[in-house]
Amino acid sequence: MHILVINSGSSSIKYKLFSMPDEKLISKGLIEHIGEKGSKIKDHYQGLKSILDKINNVSCVGHRVVHGCEKFRKPILINTAVLRDIKDCAGLAPLHNPANLMGILACKKLLPGTPQVAVFDTAFYQTLKDYVYTYGLPYEYYKNLGVRKYGFHGTSHEYVARTASRKLKKPFNKLKIITCHLGNGCSITATKFGESVDTSMGFTPLEGLVMGTRSGDVDPAAIFYVMRKLKLNLDQMEHILNKKSGLLGISGIGNDMRLIERAARKKNKRARLALEIFVYRIKKYIGAYTAVMGGLDVLVFTAGIGENQADIRRAVTKNLFSHFKKQPKVLVIPTNEELMIARQSYEITK
Ligand code: ADP
Repeated sequence: MHILVINSGSSSIKYKLFSMPDEKLISKGLIEHIGEKGSKIKDHYQGLKSILDKINNVSCVGHRVVHGCEKFRKPILINTAVLRDIKDCAGLAPLHNPANLMGILACKKLLPGTPQVAVFDTAFYQTLKDYVYTYGLPYEYYKNLGVRKYGFHGTSHEYVARTASRKLKKPFNKLKIITCHLGNGCSITATKFGESVDTSMGFTPLEGLVMGTRSGDVDPAAIFYVMRKLKLNLDQMEHILNKKSGLLGISGIGNDMRLIERAARKKNKRARLALEIFVYRIKKYIGAYTAVMGGLDVLVFTAGIGENQADIRRAVTKNLFSHFKKQPKVLVIPTNEELMIARQSYEITK
């Protein structure tokens, strides 16, 4: 059975084709600049058509969908009602869900009758307890507006956490695991006995760790102060927090951790500071999540920085477990969200 995994963004479609259940990658690719000036590919329909011209025998399509609100706790076969619910969730992910939907609609047209599955980034976090996901804001904001912690990168965290349990030959539901997804976006998740119990990203991916260009945790009052002082409007401030902050904002060098490390080695002060803040914040979250889980069996690093930058891993784990009687295992596991989506789609449609 061949499963096509689609990650549809606003101007791009990434795909991987897997043979299942043997999990062999048959082909992969990326269509970019969809709908942009001068591009031959006018829309997602044309983008997907150019992918389908290169592959055949697709038995099922698995779609990455960023936001599943509180409606979707697990992957689901797409029908008209599911499509409507994904549209309803778009208010909470205005940049992502509409782009994901365009990919789904294009597949419906081009592969009529082929089952399509939606796999949500947020679904893994639907096990969070209310006292974990509720903010200290008026309760009506949660009830009426859906303001709560949702968490993101769930497919990646679940994939590496499950892979860790397989590698250690210990049941997933017997382990206390912390997974650090350190890429351009960074997040950290605590998974206790097979269910996620906390994660650093929140209502949006802005909360938590310091990232390439996102600030992570900040006192909201600091934002109001800056807006008043610099006379910034909401859109400008939102842009700064998402695109001009984090490693880029602190260092003034860039969002790429390799550049920051290189500059820090050459004694650039702000690069060194960016690095120290990055590492400190991860350590702090690991400490907090170890406390809420009452221990830790496995710490996993994944994504661009987590997989490739051993100095950062060393800095995070230095003296981290000195007070532990039994040292947790530390693993580096390459993430593979597409394979996770293929597995989950296979389980639903096999
Ligand atoms: P994204 O969140 O965009 O998928 P990645 O997981 O590719 O990001 O991670 C990008 C980050 O990983 C950058 O800060 C980059 O400097 C860092 N990195 C370090 N080594 C590598 C590498 N060999 N390949 C890709 N990224 C790397």
